[in-house]
Amino acid sequence: MKFQKPRGTKDILPKDIRKWHFVERTISDVAVAFNFSEIRTPAFEHTELFTRGVGAETDIVGKEMYTFLDKGGDSLTLKPEGTAPVMRAYLENGMAAESPVHKLYYIANMFRYEKPQAGRYREHTQFGAEIVGSDSFYTDVELIMLAREVYNRCGINNFKVKINSIGKADERRNYIDVLKEYLKSNINELSDESKKRFETNALRILDSKDRNDRKVTDSAPKILDHLPAESRQRFDRVINELTKLGVDYEIDFRLVRGIDYYSDTTFEFISQDLGSQDALGGGGRYDGLIEQLGGKPIPGVGFASGIERIIIVAEKNNFAFPEPAPPKVYFIALNEEAREVAFDKTIELRKHNVSSEADLLQRSLKSQMREANKLNCEYVFIIGDEEIKNKKGILKKMSDGSQEEVEFDKIVGKLIKI
Ligand code: AMP
Repeated sequence: MKFQKPRGTKDILPKDIRKWHFVERTISDVAVAFNFSEIRTPAFEHTELFTRGVGAETDIVGKEMYTFLDKGGDSLTLKPEGTAPVMRAYLENGMAAESPVHKLYYIANMFRYEKPQAGRYREHTQFGAEIVGSDSFYTDVELIMLAREVYNRCGINNFKVKINSIGKADERRNYIDVLKEYLKSNINELSDESKKRFETNALRILDSKDRNDRKVTDSAPKILDHLPAESRQRFDRVINELTKLGVDYEIDFRLVRGIDYYSDTTFEFISQDLGSQDALGGGGRYDGLIEQLGGKPIPGVGFASGIERIIIVAEKNNFAFPEPAPPKVYFIALNEEAREVAFDKTIELRKHNVSSEADLLQRSLKSQMREANKLNCEYVFIIGDEEIKNKKGILKKMSDGSQEEVEFDKIVGKLIKI
């Protein structure tokens, strides 16, 4: 029987891992510069966290969750998104008492039963960031700037920020009434999916990709025109700040996001290099979420971005991901005693962080040399019969072929120095 990975998953092979390491390192560097702390939560949670926190009417909860009963009969779900778990951890660990504002980030695998296609997996890795405890409009901007900095450092500059405000929960309810009033007269022209959504989640009709739905919603009343002055001003302050910072944004009335907990600002980073799955990242405010999960009404804002998609776009832009450093030295050993010396010396060097390698296949001098070349090693240290007798090996610099004899006792010290 030949095993294959489950549909929608992937192997990240050694030849590609440097890209992942680079992106992950960049995320932590940027997070440190922005004074965010890392938080890690379990791979699975009680299912109810998501049905309550994300919303029963959302695509995620409605059809994408990997939910199972464990042997104790508890319903658990592999996490499909990161915000609800982080807020659960925030509440459970009494973090609000530690400090009024928390700036948190995570890198974690998410699981969604979606139809796999380019840039869309059933298991993907997200980096996300959350600011909890402040409703300042600066926090919305801070997150957009954090994401932008990560993208820029990965060589991604050609993305667009789409932004909108969906107001506070009660404001949104009022707007939805206005929207439904408008849609009612066009209901027959809507897709079946949108007809269903008319009853359950009418706001989402705005972000339908169906051409007829779009025709209908093109001239629908816009939420920004129906927000009270205070919410509208808040939104204006966000976009004024973005303008000042030189962020290329576009107001998009269709940006309502697929998750129920959002309020006020919603935003998405869109890249043309991604094809139909063009969202590089997205987020927004969720001032009602913590209360929904049983906490006090504490405001929050967050966003998440798929690392797979960052790598896809970086590669399309020919970003030069740093190559891993090759081993400094390759030990060429030509008999059993030599192999023992070579093995012991590599182990010692590695303790001092000097990357080193020795032959594992008892190969000939020529093929060991070839291997050292292939690995791009800076030096080889050759130990043959003669060298074992004299307890000295030949240290050869690969770039110019120069060589010298070095005693076995001195080789480690010498390589540490150079
Ligand atoms: P969302 O919470 O759906 O807005 O997801 C946040 C980000 O995660 C998206 O903007 C994508 O970059 C990424 N993402 C979401 N779903 C997937 C998926 N199925 N495969 C790969 N990346 C995804």
